[in-house]
Amino acid sequence: MDIKTMNAQDIACVIEDNKNGPSDELLAAAAQTRDKYYGREIFVRGLIEFTNYCKNGCYYCGIRAQNKNAHRYRLTETEIMECVDQGHRLGFRTFVLQGGEDKYFTDERICGIIYAVKSKYPECAVTLSIGEKTKESYRAYRDAGADRYLLRHETADEAHYAKLHPQSMSLENRKKCLYTLRELGYQVGAGFMVGSPYQTSRELASDLLFLKDLKPHMVGIGPFIPHSMTPFAHESGGSVALTLTMLALTRLMLPKTLIPSTTALGTADAMGREKGFAAGANVVMPNLSPVSVRADYSLYDNKICTGDEAAQCIVCLKNRIERAGYEMNMGRGDSLMD
Ligand code: SAH
Repeated sequence: MDIKTMNAQDIACVIEDNKNGPSDELLAAAAQTRDKYYGREIFVRGLIEFTNYCKNGCYYCGIRAQNKNAHRYRLTETEIMECVDQGHRLGFRTFVLQGGEDKYFTDERICGIIYAVKSKYPECAVTLSIGEKTKESYRAYRDAGADRYLLRHETADEAHYAKLHPQSMSLENRKKCLYTLRELGYQVGAGFMVGSPYQTSRELASDLLFLKDLKPHMVGIGPFIPHSMTPFAHESGGSVALTLTMLALTRLMLPKTLIPSTTALGTADAMGREKGFAAGANVVMPNLSPVSVRADYSLYDNKICTGDEAAQCIVCLKNRIERAGYEMNMGRGDSLMD
């Protein structure tokens, strides 16, 4: 079986065959592939969730504009720098600035933040995850020093995309953003949720084929987890088993890409992140946001690690990584993808 040369129908069959979890053979192939390119190192990135204001209305997401119950916050530039300083002291050399699509954070403000981090810590990589912007904005962030950008495509199927998002959003624009980011020289992260409403093996197969075409430097995959204040409150969540299958297949499709074992996976299963490593993942993104705002960055219900200080988180994580038979790497951890 070589996933790289298979058509959509055959990929969907493989997914179907492994829907209750990756077979031993698939698991071994994925882990071996990860070991071959990256060894047993797990790369850590500090995640700073700096605003939960969002103009969009994604049906699955707890910080959608229409959720009037969400307690909204934005960190000041000073608070963001304090998170970065603390992270740097703890040894982090890569920071991910994530947020909703918040108009308060104009290009000028975003560029100011990037510039502040990069001039203080030129050896660190700065990653943005702030949604769909124009090419001019992406260029401005890049010129200010941003190295990487995470923008999950969410689903590569048009009809499915339309069932998860309001009409104001389109898969076409999402994909265009990803190709633009690549063209501007960012290390790009795409990705999708597993078990989102209306998703079948067919849609998951198109996700893998889209990834094969885009060749992102990183692929974020996590189970869909319902949030009580969204239109999908009563939908069922994605399965951990199928998520592991998709991690393993992604590792085989793009051997050199970085694959995080996501917070959503760790939320759906207490040992989820360790299971993710066993399926070929090699990145974790612990939270560096101030504890006071963590629970408010609520994309889905029961999110883990909303109580611990960053320092506690990193000790706990290091222990867990080592217990699972890996080593923690706090460096920049650049992707091997071209
Ligand atoms: N506004 C940014 C950041 C989005 S939040 C952007 O548009 O890229 C990061 C990711 O969380 C999303 O891309 C989505 O895949 C995931 N997410 C959102 N709601 C979720 C839910 N209910 N369950 C699981 N993952 C979710």
